[in-house]
Amino acid sequence: MNDNILRIAIQKSGRLSEDSLKLIKECGIRFDNGAGKLKTDATNFPAQILFLRDDDIPGYVEDGVAHLGIVGENVSEESNRDVDTVHKLGFSKCRLSIGVLREHDYNNVTDLEGKSIATTYPRLLEKYLSSNNVKAQIHEISGSVEIAPSIGLADAVCDIVSSGSTLLSNGLKEVETIFRSEAVMIASKHLSDVQKDLLDQLLFRIKSVQAAKN
Ligand code: ATP
Ligand code: ZN
Repeated sequence: MNDNILRIAIQKSGRLSEDSLKLIKECGIRFDNGAGKLKTDATNFPAQILFLRDDDIPGYVEDGVAHLGIVGENVSEESNRDVDTVHKLGFSKCRLSIGVLREHDYNNVTDLEGKSIATTYPRLLEKYLSSNNVKAQIHEISGSVEIAPSIGLADAVCDIVSSGSTLLSNGLKEVETIFRSEAVMIASKHLSDVQKDLLDQLLFRIKSVQAAKN
C-alpha cells in the first residue's frame, strides 16, 4: 500500500455527501467526481477519495483501508470502532431522540421501564438507558423505525431527528434527546509520518475554511 497518500472516505449518496464534497473542494483539493465513480484521485494533492455507504466508513478507517473518513458522530459512536475523531465539521447537525405515540401520557425516562423500543442505534440507546437505570427491550431494525409503534411492533422509537416532522407524521412525539450529532472527521490510528503530515495540512485548510465562514 502507498503510505504517501491520504485515502479519504466520504458518503456516496446521502445527507452527508454534498457538504463533504464541498468541504474537500473548499480546501482546494481538485478531483473529478464523475457520476457513479467509487474512487477518484485528487489532481493537486496526494489524496484519493472513496465513495462508500456511511455505515461502512468507521470500519474502513479502523482497518486503515481508508485513512480518513467523514461521518455523522452518531454513526461513528454507534460503530464503536477504534478511530480518532480529529475534527468537528459543523454540518449535518441532528439529534438522536426517543419518540412515543402522541397519546402516550409520558412524564420522564422511567416511563420507558419494561417497554420495547425500536431503533437502528442499539448501542447508543443501551448506553442511555443504563445510565438512567432503565431496563427496556431494544428491537434493532434497519429502517423505517418510525412506523413501529403504530403497527404494534414497539412502544417507542429511538431515531435521528432534525425537524421532527417524520415523528409527527407517524403520530409520535419527541420525549427525550439522547445524543447530539454533527459530521466529524475520523482518522485511522495507523497513519505513516507522511500521512500525519498530510492530515495536518488538511486540518489547517479545513480550519481556515471554517474561520472564513464565521
Ligand atoms: P447510506 O446509504 O450511506 O447508508 P443513510 O441512509 O444511512 O445512508 P443518511 O440519511 O444519508 O444515511 O444520513 C447520513 C447522516 O446524516 C446521518 O447518520 C446523520 O448523521 C445525518 N443526518 C441524518 N438525518 C439528518 C437530518 N434530517 N438532518 C441533518 N443531518 C441528518
Ligand atoms: Zn447509512
